[in-house]
Amino acid sequence: MLELERTILTAEMLAPDTGELISTRVEVRVDPLTGHTSRILPNRGLMPPNDFDLEAFARENQPRCPFCPDRIERLTPRLAPAIEPDGRIARGEALLFPNLHAYSSHSCVSVYSPRLHYLPLGRFTERLIADNLTAQVAYAKAVMAADPDSRWASINANHMLPSGSSLFHPHLQGVVDSRPTTLQRMLAEVPAARFDAYLEAERQSGERMLGRTGRVEWLVSFAPIAPAELRAFVGGVSSPAELDEALIGELAHGLTCAVNAYAELGYESFNLAMYGAPPATAGYPLNLRIACRSNLRPFYRSDSTFLERFHWEGAVDLAPEDVADRLRDRFTSAMSRHDIS
Ligand SMILES: [Zn+2]
Repeated sequence: MLELERTILTAEMLAPDTGELISTRVEVRVDPLTGHTSRILPNRGLMPPNDFDLEAFARENQPRCPFCPDRIERLTPRLAPAIEPDGRIARGEALLFPNLHAYSSHSCVSVYSPRLHYLPLGRFTERLIADNLTAQVAYAKAVMAADPDSRWASINANHMLPSGSSLFHPHLQGVVDSRPTTLQRMLAEVPAARFDAYLEAERQSGERMLGRTGRVEWLVSFAPIAPAELRAFVGGVSSPAELDEALIGELAHGLTCAVNAYAELGYESFNLAMYGAPPATAGYPLNLRIACRSNLRPFYRSDSTFLERFHWEGAVDLAPEDVADRLRDRFTSAMSRHDIS
């Protein structure tokens, strides 16, 4: 049985007023897949709930938004004919086009809907997410067919400005490239048995498990990089390009549970990454990570500090087990509904 490794550190100091001895407990945890470490701090209120009027801010910036209905056709680029003769990929309300600011050989942006300039996390639906994922999967397949060297696909999100998004209008981003990112490479190098051992250890403990639909298992990260971080593992496929309609439905279901639950906790910004390895990579389950980011407000504190950026060390004051306790009910009841349907 794989042991989830943790070390307790104690900081001691004298109180500024009384001079009394204060002890603080910091738990260092090792991620069982990549070996990166993370610090779980006592809750200090580092992630306050949203109190910013996002709807008013949306109205204010909408007149200049290139993703809204009257401008999206005119202001967004079109895909090369070898990838998509129509220039854009439409699925349901979702619309996908190239990213004007490319990060790789193939970068795309897909809005959930041109009409949804403002989409708070509590209003995400399975339909919106499934259609957007379907557009992303079609893009990854089309790119791989047109450019066989580009086999590393990922589906990602910067949702709201604190997450790194330069545009307010909600969207996903796809990257398909000949080179993996650092974490894509590290995860693809993890032996298959390690994934099995990690998931088995988490199932035995139960403390961080959220639930599973047919082939997708959801849990709270043991050693999170970012606040309220969840992971999902999709058995039997290694790339987003291999997702079929049923798996997209399962992922959309879990992601809807996740972002709706974030809204209940008071969060409105998140990052998402679905880390693909090349299609048919034996033993690699498609990995997904989603986590909250600080809420938007004047003079807000970023949750990404010197630790995350330069030490590659997570530091969060939301204990993963507390996050699991607060999210589990929503996941379990919704997951069972999904199984029945
Ligand atoms: Zn817009």
